[in-house]
Amino acid sequence: MRLLIVEDERRVSQFLKKGFQAEAFSVDVANDGQAGLELACSGDYDAVILDIMLPRKDGIQVLQEIRQAKIATPILILSAKADVEDRVQGLNLGADDYLSKPFAFSEVLARIRSLLRRQSDDDRSPLLTLADLQMDVIRRKVLRGGKEIELTNKEFQLLEYLLRNKGRVLSRVIMSEHIWDMNFDSETNIVDVVINRLRRKIDDSFAPPLIHTVRGVGYVLKVAEE
Ligand code: CA
Repeated sequence: MRLLIVEDERRVSQFLKKGFQAEAFSVDVANDGQAGLELACSGDYDAVILDIMLPRKDGIQVLQEIRQAKIATPILILSAKADVEDRVQGLNLGADDYLSKPFAFSEVLARIRSLLRRQSDDDRSPLLTLADLQMDVIRRKVLRGGKEIELTNKEFQLLEYLLRNKGRVLSRVIMSEHIWDMNFDSETNIVDVVINRLRRKIDDSFAPPLIHTVRGVGYVLKVAEE
């Protein structure tokens, strides 16, 4: 799952970023409204956490412009402005939920999970499968052949991305851009390291193999033809 946090208070954004990363989310942070709007409009996020009082463009304006751009990503407003009118205005303009500061991380996490579940009836189903491999994205569970497999956060995120793109060849650069945050240095061989660990866990004791190397390009998750 990929999350965008639009928040100018560094202390708050880093607290949220660390918390969500520990829950196996990929997290990008925008420090002002304009940067947040541009990232949100790239359309590659599963959810957005949006502050209201922001430099360069306030959160209400950002929210309006995201919805005008026909981007339906779930948005949770997280704001110190907690009046009923503010909540109503945010929700009327297309926010999916509203939480006031100060907040407990566990509550933000629960609200985001609930937004993700709500939209998961659509194309971004929380249950991803290939052959006897199953991933429940919301409950963070992976099974192969009915056996539960423990994955680290990065392994989980990479497998989720492969499953969402099963049958498609993914380059190392594309994978690292999606799994690590946008400032990640994709020169390193970290993708190969994580892929090797994933292979040991999901392919070594099972058949058929699902992770395939495409020489000179990257990797593909599929059931290979005989
Ligand atoms: Ca603020």
